[in-house]
Amino acid sequence: MLSRHSALALQGVSGGELEDLCAQAVQLRKQHYGERLTYSRKVFVPLTTLCRDDCGYCTFVQRPGSPGAKVMTPAEVMEVVQQGQQLGCKEVLFSLGEKPERRYQQARDALAALGYQRMTDYLAACCDQVLEQSSLMPHVNAGTLDEDELRLLKPRCLSMGMMLETMSRRLLQKGGAHYACPDKVPLQRIRTLERAGRLQVPFTTGILIGIGETWDERIDSLLLINRLHAEYGHIQEVIIQNFCAKPGTPMANYPEPSLEEMLRTLAVARLLLHPSISLQAPPNLQQRYGHYIQAGINDWGGISPLTRDYINPEKAWPQLELLAAACAEQGCLLEERLALYPAYQQQPGFVEAAVQARLAPLCRADGLAQHQCLAS
Ligand code: SF4
Repeated sequence: MLSRHSALALQGVSGGELEDLCAQAVQLRKQHYGERLTYSRKVFVPLTTLCRDDCGYCTFVQRPGSPGAKVMTPAEVMEVVQQGQQLGCKEVLFSLGEKPERRYQQARDALAALGYQRMTDYLAACCDQVLEQSSLMPHVNAGTLDEDELRLLKPRCLSMGMMLETMSRRLLQKGGAHYACPDKVPLQRIRTLERAGRLQVPFTTGILIGIGETWDERIDSLLLINRLHAEYGHIQEVIIQNFCAKPGTPMANYPEPSLEEMLRTLAVARLLLHPSISLQAPPNLQQRYGHYIQAGINDWGGISPLTRDYINPEKAWPQLELLAAACAEQGCLLEERLALYPAYQQQPGFVEAAVQARLAPLCRADGLAQHQCLAS
């Protein structure tokens, strides 16, 4: 494993040295994951586009009064879920803005009309509905959560997630990517990661590359995640996501990270993180699949045959057939996994009994998805 000192020294590594670094990362992936890459077949449910934060790169968030500002109804949620079930999806990813009811009357009114005061309570009810009326299993990505909220959601989902993004406080300053974002204060996100660890919630987190963080801050973010995993054992995957500049946002003209920058970061992440942590990179944000595989990733994250990537709506999901072919070119097999990685499926503290019972029919013996579906 890399030390912090060695990782810091790899800033700017390129050419043959970068190839050597990637080869080491691939070697480590092979030791722990064999010749297999995975993805999760899912539907994305943007439960609300309202959010109290103002991230400089975000087009998901909609301000009150704008046509896209809304809270989905239970019927709208289930329509997506039922269609996803017909298309072989196993996971519902609930993604939503952070605590909009604390800032906007429109959010409070929408929740009141549904019979709720807090978005988390409505989210929990939607998870219950999914479990009662479909074979899909929820994965919840609701941002920062307190202990009560995590306790409420844990029995209702297979896993949860929240990107750390960065541990840099500099980005909270005026002009920074996280200016005016109370939920992007690193300490708040670290506390959520710690609480999830104490409660044994299988958790996805990750870092955002190219939003103004330095190489050192990037390394320290990965080390922080690693430390939390060493203490609690709950980080099942880390996403390395490249920033994409979007028209109409304050960061529209901000430079995007290069492919080389991504490969360098991916390989270092593979070598820094505990190898039991799955390393994931979204395939729709950079279509150089073979390069990513050569940098040591073992997972592509969620891909949907139905719903778009609401966070990056301009980036279409890849054809699964193309992704499988790219994996095959690198000597790897693409396989479908569930929202809970095999290593966590038999750990009682991490899986509630009710969830485990629901999980069994979806799993094959090695913990990956029963009834694999690799068609778009
Ligand atoms: S990135 Fe997330 S937290 Fe930031 S404004 Fe968009 S929805 Fe809100």
